[in-house]
Amino acid sequence: MKKHNFSAGPCILPAEVFQKAADAVLNFQGIDLSILEISHRSAEFVAVMEEAQHLALSLLGLSDKGYKALFLQGGASTQFLMAAYNLLENKAGYINTGTWSTKAIKEAKLFGEVVEIASSKDQNFNYIPKDFSVPSGLDYVHCTSNNTIFGTQLKEFPTSEAPLVCDMSSDIFSRALDFSKFGLIYAGAQKNMGPAGATLVIIKESILGKVSRSIPSMLDYSVHTGKESMFNTPPVFSVYVSLLTLQWLQNKGGISAIEKANTEKAELIYSEIDRNPLFTGFVANKEDRSNMNATFTLTDASLQSTFDGLWKEAGINGLNGHRSVGGYRASMYNALPKESVQVLVEAMQQLEKQA
Ligand SMILES: *Cc1c(COP(=O)(O)O)cnc(C)c1O
Repeated sequence: MKKHNFSAGPCILPAEVFQKAADAVLNFQGIDLSILEISHRSAEFVAVMEEAQHLALSLLGLSDKGYKALFLQGGASTQFLMAAYNLLENKAGYINTGTWSTKAIKEAKLFGEVVEIASSKDQNFNYIPKDFSVPSGLDYVHCTSNNTIFGTQLKEFPTSEAPLVCDMSSDIFSRALDFSKFGLIYAGAQKNMGPAGATLVIIKESILGKVSRSIPSMLDYSVHTGKESMFNTPPVFSVYVSLLTLQWLQNKGGISAIEKANTEKAELIYSEIDRNPLFTGFVANKEDRSNMNATFTLTDASLQSTFDGLWKEAGINGLNGHRSVGGYRASMYNALPKESVQVLVEAMQQLEKQA
């Protein structure tokens, strides 16, 4: 039987996506060739790329608003430097809410001055900083919408006249936002959209062309937007599977429908964490809790092996917390069914009965 997969990433995708992806590896759209062996310039694949770009923008409400969608390689980690390479002329502001923001800051410092506008490092990133002011005169403001490792999520975004750049790797397509307030959004596919290998970049074209340095072609957003994400061979399989997931999402009713399901799953796990005396949440304030990654620990560490036995017995995979936080992390991306969360809650209740 398929496991209940709470893996943080790469992670669960819809069952029908796995089936269609498997079919395409053997015989893509009935053309008697595998998706893995056709040219990325073939009519079949060009159509996949166009539809994936179109659907990504339309699900985000960004069609015909001056944005381009790209499927690049190198992961979100390459976007840490690519964003700065293309946008940082003098000074950029960063909100530091965790490991990924910290890494983004490190890369940006190679290109210009970085102001840390706000940080929650003082408490091992267990909260989202609020009530900070954004200085003027910045080239852009960078934030991380969901902190995959710590289990916090931005509910309000900073306002600034400078373009807003956001790493949405672990919550893109999970909740409705006004995406038109962002100048640049990037996300590794493997958290909520597809298999590892592609990175979705959504860019407002009007923010480009403002830095004076020369940019190597592969790292230049303008080169990729000018070639419709086909400057070189794109990660074809990852793009195709991402398209299948986006189609699945659209058939489910889009972002607002999935947001409702995600909220229900989050309420289910957090109400058990709050109710069950054997567990405690990692995040300090309830309003900062992530609907994607719930982080929690046992109040009595000696129960660890018993609890680990219980959830493994229940067919659960991928519940161990990240090494920098410890404890447990339940990643509940779009494709995770509510039943899986119910199974986890039952394992937590079982522990309470036994202890
Ligand atoms: C996983 C993750 C990354 C790193 O992504 P790669 O594709 O492995 O480079 C960056 N940011 C966030 C928020 C993530 O969750």
